[in-house]
Amino acid sequence: MTSTLPPHLGASALDRALAAFVGELGPESVVSEPEELRAYRDPYTYSESDEFDASAVVMPTTTEQVQAVVRIANEHRVPLWMFSQGRNNTYGGSAPRLRGSVLVNLRRMNRILEIDRDLAYAVVEPGVRWFDLFDGLQEAGGDLWPSIPDLGWGSVVGNSLEYGIGYTPYGDHARNICGMEVVLPDGSLLRTGMGAMEGNAAFHTYPHSYGPSFGGLFQQSNLGIVTSVGWWVMRRPEAYSACWARFRGYDTLGEVVDVLRRLMLDRVIENTPLLNRGVEIDADGNFSLDPDGEGWSARFALYGRAGLVDAQFAVVEQALRAAPGVEVVRRTFDTADLTGPANHDERVQRGIPDMDLLDPRMLPYGEVTGHLDFSPIGPCRGADVVRLEKLVRATYARHGRQYVNGLYLTPRSALHISTTFYDPRDEEQTRGVFEGYADLVREVATLGYAPYRTNLQHMDLVAEQFGFADHAQRRVAERIKDALDPNGVLAPGKSGIWPAAYRR
Ligand SMILES: Cc1cc2nc3c(=O)[nH]c(=O)nc-3n(C[C@H](O)[C@H](O)[C@H](O)COP(=O)(O)OP(=O)(O)OC[C@H]3O[C@@H](n4cnc5c(N)ncnc54)[C@H](O)[C@@H]3O)c2cc1C
Repeated sequence: MTSTLPPHLGASALDRALAAFVGELGPESVVSEPEELRAYRDPYTYSESDEFDASAVVMPTTTEQVQAVVRIANEHRVPLWMFSQGRNNTYGGSAPRLRGSVLVNLRRMNRILEIDRDLAYAVVEPGVRWFDLFDGLQEAGGDLWPSIPDLGWGSVVGNSLEYGIGYTPYGDHARNICGMEVVLPDGSLLRTGMGAMEGNAAFHTYPHSYGPSFGGLFQQSNLGIVTSVGWWVMRRPEAYSACWARFRGYDTLGEVVDVLRRLMLDRVIENTPLLNRGVEIDADGNFSLDPDGEGWSARFALYGRAGLVDAQFAVVEQALRAAPGVEVVRRTFDTADLTGPANHDERVQRGIPDMDLLDPRMLPYGEVTGHLDFSPIGPCRGADVVRLEKLVRATYARHGRQYVNGLYLTPRSALHISTTFYDPRDEEQTRGVFEGYADLVREVATLGYAPYRTNLQHMDLVAEQFGFADHAQRRVAERIKDALDPNGVLAPGKSGIWPAAYRR
């Protein structure tokens, strides 16, 4: 049925594999009609491009079915590409790196397997979305809050495996993973960490292992299909204050970054502060765009016992106001009140998912608007942040492109995300945006920076930047890949790691 073939595979070989998938999963769980496959394209590449088209989609519902899919792929040498919700928009959506791959769509594996209220963790399958986790935690009593990214439709597993970020004190999502179950490229099953011991009671509570820890091998990787993870959440605090600072100019930006870093290192601020240029905020926390683009806003939040939050705010206010022209405001919420915050910033730092950032009214081309995010990471030091900001700004200016930026701070690193918007129905415009991205990668590399995550088009280019000791990292990754996946069936090309068959 399908008109897209992977390299090295003829139509009849693919048909035999698809028949085997149907035999194992049933016809309702295998899609190969070209019209239906279009829904799995990356929504932000040129809309008529077939460069990253899949040949089929399989939709297992159990770990055993995932194992069967992987075994069939090995038998027929079919490349697979896995996703959990497949909402990895701006980094490829659900589309595969290698054209003609069969997508392993895990959306139907969407059970919350466990919620432990004492130890504050959940165990989730890959299809569990932020909306589902939030609802599940509410139904379990509402005394646990998830950290969430900006859009609620993505999956806990996919986002966390990609090192995604959220905005409560548990915002480094990869670190919330504790104990995974993984289908390896030969179809066998591995449990990481303490889960390697049958029935180990600390599987989802102790993050390390006896001996080497393998969990990291499966993040941003093509070495396994994760079928469940333990994921840590926070206890509902007594008080929650959403806070903003506003200021103008690059000099003050540097000072504010340094102040925020110290407050984070001292654990006064424990969530992920977000700084935006070109945004004005009034005393009630309402936003408007600053026409000359020199205005900055910083968003962060405080959590804990009510008296402690008040004391922390006093410390933060005093520290930030020491920088020239900085104003600080906050709004405090009753944490038991679910209807609480009305605006996105207040909700997302409180773990309440929404879809506000995809509101077509805010986007220049309506709901089809393409976003290309450029996400280099560097140290959280004022002078470094300002230097990278200026370079990114100058590069966009050279390309004649508008962008919005966000600086996401952790105590030691700063993630600079700049987003440019375009019309993916316009081939030339879209091509220009992607070429501009390659230029940004090369420019920031001159200062010693690289993206932490990237789109399908640029996975090889970004991997190229990690060249220490004649690409030791890539060579090690390839050796592990070839040892675990000799037939090269799992996600060839993911993060620039190609199996032997495709390297030749
Ligand atoms: C407006 C906007 C706002 C955004 N805000 C944020 C944000 O605040 N924070 C953030 O982190 N991102 C953000 N993103 C980026 C992205 O959309 C989200 O991270 C999204 O959650 C990723 O989609 P997903 O969770 O469905 O992951 P998926 O698409 O399911 O997975 C992503 C990748 O992980 C791997 N993977 C997934 N599942 C498995 C598995 N079971 N086993 C092995 N490998 C697997 C695959 O390589 C897959 O391509 C934003 C994007 C946009 C457009």
